[in-house]
Amino acid sequence: MKCKICSNEFALSKKDTYIVFKNMGLFGADKYYDAVNCPQCGCQNVLGERLCEFGLKKVSESSTNKDGEK
Ligand SMILES: [Zn+2]
Repeated sequence: MKCKICSNEFALSKKDTYIVFKNMGLFGADKYYDAVNCPQCGCQNVLGERLCEFGLKKVSESSTNKDGEK
């Protein structure tokens, strides 16, 4: 991708991207964005809006390894 600030082209890797959010105030929901920092100038480039999931399901691990230790 190309940096919006310094026009430096750099490879976009998933591990370099992170999620930022914008507080929309009292009556708006927070908006989440993917962002990446330019390796050359260090400026933040916002990639796109990320919709946040409501009610994330937690993987229920059936941990039945309770040892009856005395
Ligand atoms: Zn840059």
